[in-house]
Amino acid sequence: MAYQSINPATGALVKTFDNHTDAQVQAALAVAHAVYKSDWSKGDIQPRLAVLDKLADLIEARSEQLAVTLVQEMGKRISEARFEVQMSADIARYYARNAAGFLAGRKLETAHGDAWTEYHPIGVVVAVEPWNFPLYQLIRVAGPNIAVGNPVLAKHASNVPQAAAAFEQLVRAAGAPAGVWTNLYASGDQVAALIADDRVQGVALTGSEKAGSIVAAQAGKYLKKSVLELGGADVFMVLDDADVDKAAEVGAAARLYVAGQACNAAKRFLVHEKVADRFLEKFTAIFAGIKVGDPMDESADMGPLCSLAARADIAQQVDNAVQAGATLHYGGKALPGPGAYYSPTILTNVTRDNPAYFSEFFGPVAQVYVVRSDDEAVELANDSMFGLSGVVFSADVERARKLASRIETGSVWINTRSSTSPELPFGGVKRSGYGRELAEDGLKELVNQKMIVVA
Ligand code: NDP
Repeated sequence: MAYQSINPATGALVKTFDNHTDAQVQAALAVAHAVYKSDWSKGDIQPRLAVLDKLADLIEARSEQLAVTLVQEMGKRISEARFEVQMSADIARYYARNAAGFLAGRKLETAHGDAWTEYHPIGVVVAVEPWNFPLYQLIRVAGPNIAVGNPVLAKHASNVPQAAAAFEQLVRAAGAPAGVWTNLYASGDQVAALIADDRVQGVALTGSEKAGSIVAAQAGKYLKKSVLELGGADVFMVLDDADVDKAAEVGAAARLYVAGQACNAAKRFLVHEKVADRFLEKFTAIFAGIKVGDPMDESADMGPLCSLAARADIAQQVDNAVQAGATLHYGGKALPGPGAYYSPTILTNVTRDNPAYFSEFFGPVAQVYVVRSDDEAVELANDSMFGLSGVVFSADVERARKLASRIETGSVWINTRSSTSPELPFGGVKRSGYGRELAEDGLKELVNQKMIVVA
């Protein structure tokens, strides 16, 4: 794992960072643990919330610089980066304003006397995070853990080291003592050693199934709680009564956002046969009109993938799908030049025996399926290893709600795309992981919910 910023739009190596040594990692753990034992973690919540409030202000004050860093490290468009930066500030502010209420404790009715629940930190938390939302992923962990008092040792993805360093500096500049949030340029072995240490009491990971399974197994071995946010193959259902044009527009945006590299992007489009031709025609026209180009160019509709390796992977997946019988309806091309650009792509006729049927495509590749009934749509939706989120488009909200209840995912969005917001819990079921981040639910994952009784 070499920590390097390589601009995906140009292929240029921008900066290399040295890995932390074992001694540095151990020293960071000692500092974090000392923070946990100090008044910072055990005392009044207000100083911690003040840091989150200030962090929100600082993120906003440095928003353009942060947004440009995200673009240059992982290739998202500048407008997408600005949105991510603002969302990150909003999450910090959300916990600054609401965490005290969420952690106030609650009275319990019992015949045993006075009883209540208190919420306490559990200890040092290890966070392993991905590159696709380099700032948002960190604040999603920092917000609740700073609020409750868990110090965090964060291992960010190796291709976003500048974002990782910038975030650590922001937390310090917001007034947090050293050890509250520590960025580590760590290896997998170093992460494993941290998880094994008694001073670490919780683990949060967002990333692939493979990394999730490895890290969760390490956490399980040492009986540490983990929260996992993994991949997705989200459905986007278009029922026969839906506004087809709107569904095609929202669906294309939901698939191509951040060049298709979002866990909760719409990936499988399940369209009722009565509207399938119209939908596909409109959807294809939108894909054909997408301007793929420099992510710093405000007029570009889609930037590059995060690396040439990521592009090679998605190209291979598309080729394999076609070889196994899928139809390449549109796109399927790596674009010339040094950047990691790939065309928006549509696959149809993906049958259940095609590996693509069960795969996550982490790039701008939509699969379109035709269904004959609501039941068939639900069956296809649930015939997946993943269960992150999903979308239903219909003019009949009651009908859509019934389907939403039957889809095996952590969330469903009706007549809009799957998104994220500080007050909405985020997470999945099946191989999309377990536990929730954001909202009150996310705050209460890695806390000691202590019950006290006075007889
Ligand atoms: P990876 O799982 O490889 O990377 C995610 C993080 O895990 C990185 O920090 C990576 O470090 C680290 N990592 C990988 N292997 C290990 C290990 N053995 N021990 C410790 N840390 C490890 O994922 P990708 O880079 O492939 O990211 C895309 C994947 O993540 C997709 O499948 C996507 O769906 C999922 N994802 C899920 C999200 C969600 O919210 N549910 C959000 C974003 C992505 P390094 O970079 O150094 O290898």
